[in-house]
Amino acid sequence: MPKKNPDTALPRATNQLLEIYHASTLSTSRFEDRYWETQLDRLIRKHLAAGQDDVIEAALDELAKKDTDEADDLFEQVQATCQSLELDVNRQPWQAVLITSAFAVWTRYQLPQVKMTEEILAQFIDVLKRTVLAPDVKLAALPKLVGIDEMPRSFSQTSEWLNKLANRAVGKRAAMPTTITVEPNPALLVDTRHLVMAVAAPKGQPIFRWQADPSMAQETCQSTWGAAIEPVLAQLLPGCQFHALVPQLYHSSIELSEQHMRLIAIISASEWLHSTLNLKPGELRATIAAVGEQSVQEYRIGYHRGRQQDVIYGTIWPVFNNFGAAENGSIVDTVDEIAAILKDCDVEHVKRIPGVLLPESCDDCGAPLFPNPSGELVHVDLPEEAFEAPQHFH
Ligand SMILES: [Zn+2]
Repeated sequence: MPKKNPDTALPRATNQLLEIYHASTLSTSRFEDRYWETQLDRLIRKHLAAGQDDVIEAALDELAKKDTDEADDLFEQVQATCQSLELDVNRQPWQAVLITSAFAVWTRYQLPQVKMTEEILAQFIDVLKRTVLAPDVKLAALPKLVGIDEMPRSFSQTSEWLNKLANRAVGKRAAMPTTITVEPNPALLVDTRHLVMAVAAPKGQPIFRWQADPSMAQETCQSTWGAAIEPVLAQLLPGCQFHALVPQLYHSSIELSEQHMRLIAIISASEWLHSTLNLKPGELRATIAAVGEQSVQEYRIGYHRGRQQDVIYGTIWPVFNNFGAAENGSIVDTVDEIAAILKDCDVEHVKRIPGVLLPESCDDCGAPLFPNPSGELVHVDLPEEAFEAPQHFH
């Protein structure tokens, strides 16, 4: 396939980015790899600094038309570039990365709007430094737990957040990043919250504890972090349950938390239904159906009582993909995974609907329809008792 001819319909800057990207894919050695990586990094940084997300997006779209693996590859390069940077500290080269510490939060009541005091933020930072980060790093964090809707929507915004926080981390003057304002959703029972921070160290020095001590397993850091942060979170999020995920670089952390939320959606729904409707063990049952237009976009899980056909609640298990094929794994594997989680939540009877259903939603309210045990997608009909149960935590 001829790919060297620049596409005249594309802007020059996009063609230039594609040209360097394609040259990088023809590299024959690590030596060349590093050269092209630096070239790409420089060019991407230039576009990020100028807020030219359109140039990058156009290059990604163009690649995706021909080769989704290449689009994924460039996408990862762009992500890597916007979550790390080098900066000068007293004429020494330093590096900084954007990290988030993600928390899955759920409650039977309403998710509280949390205010983080300086004292609580200091506790978070202290625990991070003791359990996850390398001993001598510097860091600056956004003084609140933010939801995904409040976080950057573009590569250049992500890069700007890092820039500001990284400068603050090393003691330079920079404004605090501005979060995107969103209306609080009163019905939200399950969500993720992120503590976003830049962590800086002299170039080549470790950022994470497991880099500083290669014998330290990441799982050990995860469990000590989880245990140590729990009392701080309990104080901040009264009436909520939560999981603290291990802090990671920005994009991996978001991906990890979105995957984790699929599980929390099921756990929280079954806990809530069991307690609100006073269900006996084994009474709550579920039906799983794969849903999508051409390929599976998501799995819909309809919940029902005993042998009844009415779907009383539904949760969605999204399938994540960027440009290429969806995540590895067949429909059977995913349905097994979902069924295993349901079983852990005391939902023993799980019906699996074969094939892929069309993603139907309600004509009136737009709500997604969920499978009943006969394999039809129907409207959720939450029993009256559920509305009478207390919705707010006092
Ligand atoms: Zn409706």
